[in-house]
Amino acid sequence: MIYLDYAATTPVDERVLAKMLPYFRETFGNPSSVHRFGQKAEAALDAARETVAAALNCRPDEIIFTSGGSEADNLALRGAMLARKHATRWLLTAKTEHPAVSKTARQLADEYGFLLEWLDVNEHGEVTPAALTRAVCSDTTLASAMYANNEIGTLNPIADLAQIARANGILFHTDAVQAAAYLDVDVQKLGVDLMSLGGHKFYGPKGVGALYVRQGTQLAPQLTGGSQESALRAGTHNLPYIVGFAEALRLAVEERQARTAHVQPLRDQIIGAVLEAIPDSRLTGHPERRLPNHASFVFKGADGNLLLQLLDAAGFACSSGSACKTGNPEPSEVVSALGYSREWALGSLRVTLGKDTNAEQVEAFLKSLPNLVDKARALYRR
Ligand SMILES: *Cc1c(COP(=O)(O)O)cnc(C)c1O
Repeated sequence: MIYLDYAATTPVDERVLAKMLPYFRETFGNPSSVHRFGQKAEAALDAARETVAAALNCRPDEIIFTSGGSEADNLALRGAMLARKHATRWLLTAKTEHPAVSKTARQLADEYGFLLEWLDVNEHGEVTPAALTRAVCSDTTLASAMYANNEIGTLNPIADLAQIARANGILFHTDAVQAAAYLDVDVQKLGVDLMSLGGHKFYGPKGVGALYVRQGTQLAPQLTGGSQESALRAGTHNLPYIVGFAEALRLAVEERQARTAHVQPLRDQIIGAVLEAIPDSRLTGHPERRLPNHASFVFKGADGNLLLQLLDAAGFACSSGSACKTGNPEPSEVVSALGYSREWALGSLRVTLGKDTNAEQVEAFLKSLPNLVDKARALYRR
């Protein structure tokens, strides 16, 4: 079986696992305890926070550890909107966002009466500075735009967007959960107020993440109880996972160039070969400004879910954008937002590479894919 779905999740790096293991049994203390078991755990927590802060070029007390990217997105949006609910009311985000942002935005509008405006995206799925400038008003609280898109790989111009937000006195959040594996996540260069990260997209454990919160940014806590994480996120620290998250992020920064140099030519080979060999195929997302490990396509008149099943049977693990696994498939909101009709959008395929992907795997995939797309088309038409 060949794994080509690194945007869905990655295996834990063995160096990360080795760092985590002592914190399950040897150094098991609660970092909030006064005694020496607690002190030792607290020292490890502080060290992990400093490692993350160094990777993000921020202060350690600007890092809030969470249970993952989804929770970080929720804390950013809910926390920022609710902290300012008596002052300003508009939330700006795009339909191409991960559901942890887009569904949270919808719920904030439905439940609390916040005003939600969907930012325009262009045919590559980019939120342009012009689109943000058009949407901002004096009653805007927060704009949220993802750094790199999970379905189509497109990068948003975060530094430019954040600059517009700052010039207009509004907060800016970015979901950098996909981006952190390959791109510079220096929050000073990016100029963001809030940034979400998740460990399992860069060879860390699942169920742990972080939210960067620029000093002075008021958030309403979304999980109340103990005063952990500046009282923004109650709950005894999951120390082994936090240690693993920090080590995985440190390695991602250290090895970023080498990892990029490894995956990018393989990705380019996939994009070139697929568009050449398969008629009525298109690359989705931006042709250049995209994640270096990410190739995504639509095939006209093909059933994307069926294609995934055929690929699985042939030994390849990939992904599509369709929300539904069986029954009446719905095209992905992200691919639809690019302007593709249903006939195209239903045939979406995402191929994402990782540090263990090799040339033989890519060759084998490219050899199998055209026939499988033919099959997925023949069965779709029936
Ligand atoms: C995976 C992902 C998330 C969710 O992160 P979890 O840690 O799985 O909760 C959010 N945003 C993007 C862009 C993602 O790819």
